[in-house]
Amino acid sequence: MEDERPDPADALAAIGNERRVSILYELQQAFREGHSSLPYADLKRRVGLRDSGNFNYHLQRLVGQFVRKSSDGYALTYAGRKVASALTAGVFTEQADGTTLDAPGTCYECGDAALFARYEEERVHIACESCGEELLHNPFPPAPTTRRDDLLDAFEVWTRRWNALAAAGTCPECGSRMSGTLTDYRPELGTGNVPYRLRVSCSACWAMANLPVGCLVRDDPRVVGFHAERGVSLDERYLWDLDWALHRDYLTVLDDDPPRLRLRIPLDSEALRLTVDNEGTVVSTTVSER
Ligand SMILES: [Zn+2]
Ligand SMILES: [Zn+2]
Repeated sequence: MEDERPDPADALAAIGNERRVSILYELQQAFREGHSSLPYADLKRRVGLRDSGNFNYHLQRLVGQFVRKSSDGYALTYAGRKVASALTAGVFTEQADGTTLDAPGTCYECGDAALFARYEEERVHIACESCGEELLHNPFPPAPTTRRDDLLDAFEVWTRRWNALAAAGTCPECGSRMSGTLTDYRPELGTGNVPYRLRVSCSACWAMANLPVGCLVRDDPRVVGFHAERGVSLDERYLWDLDWALHRDYLTVLDDDPPRLRLRIPLDSEALRLTVDNEGTVVSTTVSER
């Protein structure tokens, strides 16, 4: 039997046309205005194509993968909405490049309060002015970079949610299964200064990252709860300001083959210790003296 699944490359080629981008854009705008779908004539008028044959040809190329047809008219599918979001996120790429801001917190390496955020090649990088250490970086869309005055808050929560989904085995970009293994590979652009990172990758799309286990457990209820029970809200601290999330001093290598790590999270006179296996799963936790 022939494989009837659509070829992803063919599906993407279907968008590669200005008219089709206009159709996706107009369906998105209509949805924002409260229309869950648009009748054929309304959509045609909004796209501004007078030639019916031409309009219909482009619309039909999108139906199925990106546009859903119902008795009420046409609407974006999930993939169509993702494409519309991607087009929205990607505007202002050139304007965003080079944006630099002071960042709160102190450097895990030298201890100076000299951090800054720099936007380059569609990533936010958090680095230290004093010692040159790059603490953390993550992809972030250019559009909000140029438009939001709370950029660092937005970037931080975006990064944490991305990491939490990856840690839970779900790709933050496409929803497919994500898995990882600990590796001592040192990428040039490494997040944190640790001997091992979890290399996570999506089974279906481009998403992948090399992350310190401290970054992956930041939103774990056991970590959040340990702080909350002692009157500390982790939400008041940026991820790059949590030394235990990023620095080797808080990691003990229990085994090398396969690797197994212990992360120590100190607070006042106590510490939460998490044992993490080769797949990045927290297998045990203890609270004891610092
Ligand atoms: Zn520094
Ligand atoms: Zn994915």
